[in-house]
Amino acid sequence: MTAAPSIESAPEPHSNVAIIPGRVAQLRASFASGRTRSLDWRREQLERLETLLREDGEEIVAALKADFGKPDFEAWAADVIAVAGEAKLARKHLARWTRPEKVATPLEQRPARSRIVREPLGVVLVIAPWNYPVQLLLSPLVGAIAAGNCAVLKPSEITRHTSAVLSRLVPRHLDPECFEIFEGGVAETTALLEQRFDHVFYTGNGRVGRVVMEAAAKHLTPVTLELGGKSPCIVDESADLDVAARRIAWGKFLNAGQTCVAPDYLLVHEAVESELVTKLGEVIRGFYGDDPRQSPHYARVVDDRHHARLVGLLEGAEIAQGGERRADDRYLAPTIVRDVKPDSPLLADEIFGPILPVLRVRDVDEAIAFVEAREKPLALYVFTGSEDVEQKVVEGTSSGGVCVNATLFHLGNPNLPFGGVGESGMGAYHGRHSFETFSHRKSVMTRSTRFDPKLAYPPYSKLLTRLLRRRL
Ligand code: NAD
Repeated sequence: MTAAPSIESAPEPHSNVAIIPGRVAQLRASFASGRTRSLDWRREQLERLETLLREDGEEIVAALKADFGKPDFEAWAADVIAVAGEAKLARKHLARWTRPEKVATPLEQRPARSRIVREPLGVVLVIAPWNYPVQLLLSPLVGAIAAGNCAVLKPSEITRHTSAVLSRLVPRHLDPECFEIFEGGVAETTALLEQRFDHVFYTGNGRVGRVVMEAAAKHLTPVTLELGGKSPCIVDESADLDVAARRIAWGKFLNAGQTCVAPDYLLVHEAVESELVTKLGEVIRGFYGDDPRQSPHYARVVDDRHHARLVGLLEGAEIAQGGERRADDRYLAPTIVRDVKPDSPLLADEIFGPILPVLRVRDVDEAIAFVEAREKPLALYVFTGSEDVEQKVVEGTSSGGVCVNATLFHLGNPNLPFGGVGESGMGAYHGRHSFETFSHRKSVMTRSTRFDPKLAYPPYSKLLTRLLRRRL
């Protein structure tokens, strides 16, 4: 592989907010011109997006490294290839997805044809966070393009190198009449949210999710909110502990724990808790060596604020493994905490960093009760060798998604909708579900004019009323 290009230090991202209303109006005019409705145009834009990722992937990966030391493999897999795969899938299935969907017509309405026609919404806004800054900006864009929309993109200001690279690449590759990218933070996002969009797709925390929804409500704009939360991971005594330890440690410490669906904490059957903790320690050493700070496969915490927050969470904690930290390069070792007290701050908010609290439970019922007493999580994991336990957990809990005997993998299947429920969000995407999110399902019925009995019109006959009442 060629060496990654070096990335210039990027300044704090900003955009000229004064031009926002004019640009949104231009996109609206482009949409009104009908150019985005053509399937050829959509395919071409998706292909151009794939080209962007293929030709400029090295630069994107270098920016992700400059922002928070994202390991090359993780950057290619989760940010670059993941989006390219979504774009390719949408391109391949576009004709099928956009085909009018025939549905049955009730007998009394016949002769008639009924169908659902997918139409684009118009101009949509995508607001992304920093943890997978490419995937979470461009993967929703795939759905927006496939459905035939114009889009405004707002990358996170926290990953400034990635934001700068994307703001250069997007207009270079995609149709500038239909797509715009505005860099910046709160001021820019606030100015964008004052505009009327036809859909707002926001990924990030629930506090800002509420700000987004309130702003969208003023225009009666529908929203998709991809939020976070504390995703629990239940480990039953019947689980294969070697596999569980590897898959949990991978899902937790990928991206240094800064993954919305990372297992936030473990609920482990008391009979296997000690063995699992030992195995997790071995796995972490196997993954990252004795000093993970030296490992090119281990990311950094994104900024000083989050580093200080995570270090604060470890105050007074019973650290079973890790805990080493360095503020100067925002390093925090993969850390396991045991004997967590119910009032510990580790159990309050989403951890969103490389700290894994382990809680002991007597059985799976106690684990389910623990989960159900809290807000609905984005993901829920269960490791078990028992189908009964699997079924009990799936039926006894509510979450955005469930993955059994694995972590994060359900996200990679484009046939599964990805999204939250309750506090973890609303709406879903990935694969065809992204296309649906950015489409309006228009009902269309065409009636034949050959048969039009007068009986159905006023003045209504007694017979008609009698016939109607028989349907009760
Ligand atoms: P962030 O700070 O980058 O914010 C996200 C976006 O909101 C940014 O574009 C930012 O500019 C904008 N923003 C911030 N404050 C704002 C304000 N006051 N008004 C308007 N816009 C504002 O990212 P974050 O929120 O720290 O992201 C982490 C959270 O996102 C975690 O809770 C994580 O679980 C969640 N997340 C969810 C998913 C998912 O797919 N469900 C994916 C990744 C992250």
